[in-house]
Amino acid sequence: MKCADEFRSRAITAPLIEEIARSLVRPVRIMEVCGTHTMSIFRHGIRSLLPEGITLLSGPGCPVCVTPARHIDAFLSAADRPQVTIATFGDLIRVPGAERSLAGARAGGARVEIVYSPMDALTLAQQEPERTVLFPAIGFETTAPTIAATILAAERLGLTNFLIIAAGKTMPQALEALMADSELQVDGLLCPGHVSAIIGSETYRPLADRYHLACAVAGFEPADILAGLLSLIRQINHGQPGVENCYTRAVTREGNVRAQQLINEVFEPADSDWRGLGTIPGSGLMLREKYRRFDGMEQLDIPIQASREPKGCRCGEILKGKLLPPDCPLYGTACTPLQPVGPCMVSNEGTCAAYFRYSGRKTSTAHQNTKPFFASSTEPS
Ligand code: SF4
Repeated sequence: MKCADEFRSRAITAPLIEEIARSLVRPVRIMEVCGTHTMSIFRHGIRSLLPEGITLLSGPGCPVCVTPARHIDAFLSAADRPQVTIATFGDLIRVPGAERSLAGARAGGARVEIVYSPMDALTLAQQEPERTVLFPAIGFETTAPTIAATILAAERLGLTNFLIIAAGKTMPQALEALMADSELQVDGLLCPGHVSAIIGSETYRPLADRYHLACAVAGFEPADILAGLLSLIRQINHGQPGVENCYTRAVTREGNVRAQQLINEVFEPADSDWRGLGTIPGSGLMLREKYRRFDGMEQLDIPIQASREPKGCRCGEILKGKLLPPDCPLYGTACTPLQPVGPCMVSNEGTCAAYFRYSGRKTSTAHQNTKPFFASSTEPS
């Protein structure tokens, strides 16, 4: 495996950029599905290196961003119980629910701890048997295997004070729902490297066939992303869209079978609410009956509430690639990384946060003048 520096070197990236410019024969609209891709594209200034005519859209691949407010409210309801400790990934803590965030709950006296893995939450449960430790289980196929392994470990240890709220999601169903939206008009998908390492590159084949859609699995270094974009442009040019795996050092056709088995052992598919995308059939991961004793919703009798999204927040349209962050009236004024209104401004992988970090408080018009390659909802396709 080459070190990261090599995948950033000009010797590799410059020829790819030249080849992309040579190959582009018509305007194309490409969605990068993964929030890590979005951040990497901004961080390395890739937009400014691409020829005019390539429109990059950000998709629904930030796990914190697509978690609806009602799930955040469920985590908050658990945090309000005096015997409960919430052990959560750090980027979830500032995501607003209908009225407050876990950070706000902590400021009000709730016990909220940041952990780096679900196994850390399990260790906390072992160390504090007098408390109930609840892990908010958000994320995609990338985090689901470690959460499943943690449930199996809790089962083996006979722990009775470890719970999760199962809010995990699966990507293929969300992509299917997005591509079925005729307004989106996407020519190609830059498929997520991390998720693909688990589910395998062939998972995208039905999507490519059904929607005549070019798909390229890509890693996260500049050379990976550029190679993925070049693959997509060539597929589109040849009129033969399919699936190309440009991240073979991490992704195989069939994916990580052991990880898939772990997920299937502990979870079963369920309908799931996605912020901005609504309810997508079969796109969620709920605990199987056998492991239902770890279900925090059931064990703590947490009521299921309707989602109330933050007033004025346009995250839903941004997650569908239909709006740019600067088009949101709250962007850079009422909503900043220090005072986020919606989840897309909280997470490192959030599109609004990426825009703000690398473009600042520019208005929509100013932004488009300086970044002509990024689509807006009003841009002709
Ligand atoms: Fe939501 Fe803030 Fe993004 Fe607007 S700028 S869509 S309020 S996160």
